[in-house]
Amino acid sequence: MNNTDNLPIWSYQSKIDPSYTVSILFKTHELYNDIKVQLDNVNNSIAALQIGTKNILIDGEEVLKLNLTQDDIYAIEAHEIAHSIIGHGPGTDEESEKEADLLGIALLEINGLMDAAEVLKDKLFRMYNIDYRQFEQEFNSELDTDEFPEE
Ligand SMILES: [Zn+2]
Repeated sequence: MNNTDNLPIWSYQSKIDPSYTVSILFKTHELYNDIKVQLDNVNNSIAALQIGTKNILIDGEEVLKLNLTQDDIYAIEAHEIAHSIIGHGPGTDEESEKEADLLGIALLEINGLMDAAEVLKDKLFRMYNIDYRQFEQEFNSELDTDEFPEE
């Protein structure tokens, strides 16, 4: 993703849940430095949900620097929306981060954003050694074996 228009901010309704507003801020935005400090303080992250709102803030300079794709951005949105749905408070711990990734995967797949869901599956494996694809395989094969007792 690149900011060829040199806009200070891109805001749009999230495709995952349009009740959430996504704002990607760049350094030319007057609030960029304040938000950067908040992101660094809270979780050293590139995105956060603005407390008490449905506003997702994303550090656009990091998006450019890391050369994030549209799927990466969807994955970030889903993760933040998941935090909001679960009701995680400010700050972050490993358990909440895992939960947000897991619900994020479901939110992305419900919306047909399969490649973005793969981004979160990769992240779970890389950061926490959780093999979500293995889990899916086992879960699906259990469904096939008709092991559930009938009522
Ligand atoms: Zn998080």
